[in-house]
Amino acid sequence: MPQKHIFGPVLSRRLGLSLGVDLIPFKTCSYDCAYCECGHTTVKDITRQDFFPAEEVIAELQGILVSRPHLDSITLAGSGEPTLARSLGVVIASVKRDYPEYTLSVLTNGSLLTRNDVVKELLPADRVIPTLTTVSQQTFERIHNPHPSLNIEEIISGMVQFRSRYKGAIWLEVFVIPGLNTSDKELAGLKEAIDRINPDLVQLNTLDRPPAESWVTAATETELKRVAQVLGRAGTEITRDRAPKSSDPLGKTGATDLIRATLCRRPSTVEDLVRTTGLSGGEVAKILGILERGEEVISYRGTRGVFYAIGLDLDKKERVK
Ligand code: SF4
Repeated sequence: MPQKHIFGPVLSRRLGLSLGVDLIPFKTCSYDCAYCECGHTTVKDITRQDFFPAEEVIAELQGILVSRPHLDSITLAGSGEPTLARSLGVVIASVKRDYPEYTLSVLTNGSLLTRNDVVKELLPADRVIPTLTTVSQQTFERIHNPHPSLNIEEIISGMVQFRSRYKGAIWLEVFVIPGLNTSDKELAGLKEAIDRINPDLVQLNTLDRPPAESWVTAATETELKRVAQVLGRAGTEITRDRAPKSSDPLGKTGATDLIRATLCRRPSTVEDLVRTTGLSGGEVAKILGILERGEEVISYRGTRGVFYAIGLDLDKKERVK
């Protein structure tokens, strides 16, 4: 039966073999980032809600973890902001109680780290991965198009406070967009904020998939190295593949559902899907062909070739078919 909340395991660039857990409806987020690979936010909110019962998510997880599969991470992520879900704390506590051998990561934009309830719920997680791109409110609004109540200085203060209470690892993602957050002034501000937050690791990331806004471009390796040098911080890495080049995490059972679940959350090329599923290129192409004929999947051109997706705003994409 298709999973509603669990996707993968997928081979993540940052986390290795990662089992994704999605707590929120598609593109419900406090930001509407220009670089978002899932398209534009449909519900922009900062109010935490009971989107789905925690028990429903936990039951799906148990169905997979009962066989104790090898995983590098169980990752709360998906197509929006997971800390908006009031089920967050219950799901984290349940995983750490029943499956302590797994590393539990939370991908967050960090905007709700100003809230005491969110911080408390995150404390048992092994790794929290927030995003910071700028210290300037103007640049923050340009890149993230955030909920109008959000202020970048308050968010950075929330991250600093979180560091003082949280004993797990903080991996700070800095998403680099040439021309937007790469000036000397931007980088000096970022350096100061990062030193205050004091994360265990800084991961420099850049565009890898088609963005919500076509003006966003990817940083080159040279630009990323320059940013790393200016930040001048030990424990800064440029995001590259952590994943092995091939893997067959699920066997071939459920491959169509895995491809569906992946494409709902992130557009992918055939090559991406080969690495995610462990299937051959021919097998992936065959499944994509069936899904395209059934009009479940669209394809369009991006910087790395033809991408496949489910649920994107088709008018803004250059469709292949
Ligand atoms: S990139 Fe993350 S934070 Fe930004 S809009 Fe997409 S889901 Fe939200």
